[in-house]
Amino acid sequence: MFNGKAALISGSTSGIGLGIARALAAKGVSIMLNGFGDAAEIETMRADLEREFGVRVLYNGADLAQSDGAGALVRDAEARLGRLDILVNNAGIQHVAAVEDFPLERWDAVIALNLTAVFQGIRAALPGMKARGWGRIINIASAHGQVASINKSAYVASKHGVLGLTKVVGLETAELDITCNAICPGWVLTPLVQKQIDARAQAQGVPVEQAGRDLLAEKQPSKAFTTPEQIGELAVFLCSGAAANMTGGSISMDGGWTAQ
Ligand code: NAD
Repeated sequence: MFNGKAALISGSTSGIGLGIARALAAKGVSIMLNGFGDAAEIETMRADLEREFGVRVLYNGADLAQSDGAGALVRDAEARLGRLDILVNNAGIQHVAAVEDFPLERWDAVIALNLTAVFQGIRAALPGMKARGWGRIINIASAHGQVASINKSAYVASKHGVLGLTKVVGLETAELDITCNAICPGWVLTPLVQKQIDARAQAQGVPVEQAGRDLLAEKQPSKAFTTPEQIGELAVFLCSGAAANMTGGSISMDGGWTAQ
């Protein structure tokens, strides 16, 4: 099922994207990594993945917030891996401020990466998937694609937008062996969330561990973080034959957040 397949995971030098890259590589899928970070550390990560799982692992550090960065990345993955069967749109950023204080440039940056790059990547990947007759597109949205929180206007708007885009792509490819689904995680302890915990600890004058517990208690009834590994396994399931008739949907992995 997976051998010989190739996947591009945007924003996979860290957090959830790296968890998904590892889970797919463990199934024998060739990988194109993307994301920022220290060049030497990324090269070690790439080479380690290749060694650990015996698959081809490449890296392209394209900035997906740039106009057609995601399209160019997809074309590079197809050219260098020879095919692109699985596209995981994962790269994302957050900015926290009340609407009336939200700088337009931060709004534009969040929308460019979290929403426009997803569209650009899908648009570039679909022709090849259609030509090969198989494709899996997974968009990493968020519980914030389904419900809102204060001070996250751009992020919440972008993630709601991703769920809408996922539905359209699911419909447009419904009769093909191509699916498009979104995963909606709740809190996952990654650098993106650690920044919010640190800011909270500082603002409230409490230890970082306490701030992490408070963050969970506020939204996530399980009071436990979802792990990148768990999301990786869900992505593998969405690429499996068992999920062939799931499309245009979203799957929550949020410890009960959106059940409330
Ligand atoms: P992270 O900060 O650990 O990783 C983000 C990745 O995106 C990194 O590899 C980073 O280098 C890359 N990236 C950032 N800007 C980029 C750009 N302009 N071009 C290319 N790559 C870029 O974050 P994470 O928590 O793993 O988040 C991954 C995705 O999951 C995001 O879309 C985020 O919104 C979503 N998400 C995260 C959580 C959570 O609790 N961590 C919850 C719900 C949804």
